[in-house]
Amino acid sequence: MKHADIIVIGGGATGAACALGLVREKAGTVLMLDKTFGIYRPSRANFGLTGYLLKGLNDAVYAKWAFKAIQEWAEFGPQLEQDSGISLDFALNGVGEPFLCEEEKAVRVQQTQQLKEMAEVNGYKYNCEILDRYEFSQLIPKMELGEKVIGGMFSSDNGHVNPLFMLRAMRKTYINEGGIFIAGESVMEIIPGQSHTIIKTNIESYVCSKVVVAAGHGSTRLLNHLGVKLPLFPLRGQLMVTNRQPPMLPIPLFLVRQTGEGTFMIGVSIEQAGHDIGTTVEAMNSQAKKAIELFPIMAEFNWVRSWGAIRVITQDDSPVYDTIPGHDNIFVLVGHSAVSLASLHSSIIPKWIISGRKPKEIENLGLRRFHV
Ligand SMILES: Cc1cc2nc3c(=O)[nH]c(=O)nc-3n(C[C@H](O)[C@H](O)[C@H](O)COP(=O)(O)OP(=O)(O)OC[C@H]3O[C@@H](n4cnc5c(N)ncnc54)[C@H](O)[C@@H]3O)c2cc1C
Repeated sequence: MKHADIIVIGGGATGAACALGLVREKAGTVLMLDKTFGIYRPSRANFGLTGYLLKGLNDAVYAKWAFKAIQEWAEFGPQLEQDSGISLDFALNGVGEPFLCEEEKAVRVQQTQQLKEMAEVNGYKYNCEILDRYEFSQLIPKMELGEKVIGGMFSSDNGHVNPLFMLRAMRKTYINEGGIFIAGESVMEIIPGQSHTIIKTNIESYVCSKVVVAAGHGSTRLLNHLGVKLPLFPLRGQLMVTNRQPPMLPIPLFLVRQTGEGTFMIGVSIEQAGHDIGTTVEAMNSQAKKAIELFPIMAEFNWVRSWGAIRVITQDDSPVYDTIPGHDNIFVLVGHSAVSLASLHSSIIPKWIISGRKPKEIENLGLRRFHV
């Protein structure tokens, strides 16, 4: 049987960020296992926003955590680029959302007010402005807004990244700094023991002191065996990509962003479709129509690719960070927005795993809130 100090199950955005943090903290032999061929891999299929905008409406703890993650991205992003030698197409130059009617605006004004008040109580500043049409158009001088746009919201310290480059950079740096990555092995079972845990894959058995379950939706089956019912459900998002265009959209918007290569990503739908990663004509139509309402010039772009992906969502949208009952060496990290949260998954979370002392700021982001 092979041995590691810590085994991380899942090499997606969450697992890779955490594994990287563990090797940087000199946590001993760290082994990251990923079955690789799974279809539910949102880490390779997401929109790439690094933001706290509108996060934590249901939960002040998560709102503050998401805010902190973006503050830390300012250091985490450039450091990762330097260590990996991979440019991430990363920028923290703001994220916006246009309003196409008064109703949309009214909802965002109320939510922004709520988040600002929450932040004030919790000692930080939620940065978001509500802009009129003229002010919003000044953010995007090279693209004419559609006539329906009445204004928008804008937060100047949110941002975006190429999520594929981010994942590659985290995995590369992790390996360069001594981590072991085994792709193509699927964990079948976690067998807890007194002081050690056995991890059985479809190929091999491993023994380790600590286990981190960061397998997205794959975590549900693994933890079911141990009597833990994860409160996760799938929520599909569909994305479409256009052909390359000259740079013209300097900031990402919730619906549209221009990538470093020049393509426009359009999305993202929110649908209950189980684990079906298919795409639908309805979603493509509706997304494309909205993008054109926003920027009429987009009617001239060619749509070249599309895909669906499954979000890893909890009942209250906040992530889960916990150990499982009776086994304080088996850690669970699951939830949405793992791109935005990668900075903290690579810093505070690994320190918790090594020390066993859960930081106060995430005390309430555990399983107990769901009575698991
Ligand atoms: C359409 C869409 C848009 C999104 N946009 C954004 C965004 O703009 N910003 C943002 O922050 N987040 C966004 N997200 C969310 C983000 O993509 C996810 O939070 C993130 O990908 C989750 O990463 P993960 O590593 O937790 O899970 P996953 O990406 O699911 O990774 C889990 C990994 O575990 C592996 N695995 C599973 N079971 C096993 C097993 N038994 N043995 C070994 N390996 C296993 C899988 O192969 C997989 O690689 C978006 C998601 C979607 C679907």
